[in-house]
Amino acid sequence: MQQSDLHTVTISEVGPRDGLQSVSGVMPTADKFKWIDALYAAGLREIEVASFVPAKLLPQMADAAAVVKHAVGLPGLTVMALVPNLRGAQAALEAGVHKITIPVSASQAHSLANVRKTREQMVEEVRGIVRWRNESAPKVPVEVGMSTAFGCTIQGEVAEDDVIALAAQLVQSGVDEVGLSDTTGMANPAQVRRLFTRLRAEIGERAGAAHMHNTRGLGLANCLAAWDVGVRTFDSSLGGLGGCPYAPGASGNVVTEDLVFMFEAMGLRTGIDIEKLIAARAPLMAGLPGEPVYGMTPEAGLPRGFRGHLS
Ligand code: ZN
Repeated sequence: MQQSDLHTVTISEVGPRDGLQSVSGVMPTADKFKWIDALYAAGLREIEVASFVPAKLLPQMADAAAVVKHAVGLPGLTVMALVPNLRGAQAALEAGVHKITIPVSASQAHSLANVRKTREQMVEEVRGIVRWRNESAPKVPVEVGMSTAFGCTIQGEVAEDDVIALAAQLVQSGVDEVGLSDTTGMANPAQVRRLFTRLRAEIGERAGAAHMHNTRGLGLANCLAAWDVGVRTFDSSLGGLGGCPYAPGASGNVVTEDLVFMFEAMGLRTGIDIEKLIAARAPLMAGLPGEPVYGMTPEAGLPRGFRGHLS
């Protein structure tokens, strides 16, 4: 295959945020630095490194500002942080993040349980963040990751019309990108195709990342379905860190190693060296002793003669 024929996929590593905040152990700051450095060395160029929330709610993220300050020293890396509100956004921008992501639930019940705000109140919060961003850091993109877009453990089904209407409202509020998250691991490939197709029809290029979970084993199938309908950015977590509490033995987030293997094996370019990616499990495991990590590719090893598409 000619190099110019290769399509590019962006893998957005969320382990240091999504993974670390879902486990009970706290990774020491120095180990976070080593892990992020190893992810960067493997070729990852977008990493969600922290969540700016009160340390008493999430002690795993108490060092968020220090972690951001370390990560922004890695050239060419887009450093992302999750922020649930304006105060978090201010702290993240002050620390120097390149991009912020805000969780907004499609499910009213999940929104109330998770952030104690209705969806409408969250949209209002997003407007405040965008206003503040416009004045103080106009070059920092604001993304919304719409949680429970494919179903909710509390509410059950989430109407597709609600997801699309909320996405349109968020774009009107000035958000640069809206991605869809399968927070609860309920999505199936047909639904993923349908919803991302509708999302792109509604908000065009502002349609953002697919954040899929592997709770029921459909994570990769759902990513492939999203790829087929034009999604080019995928969230995943090294070692699938952040096991799903509802399904022991199943990983929560899609496993980065398996996702990169799938795309590279298909002839797509991720920019990631899989062997170095697998090596990045060592600092993760050293920093969180005893925490299970997942992934079929690291266990099976790469097929004989396998070559990725590094430029
Ligand atoms: Zn996740």
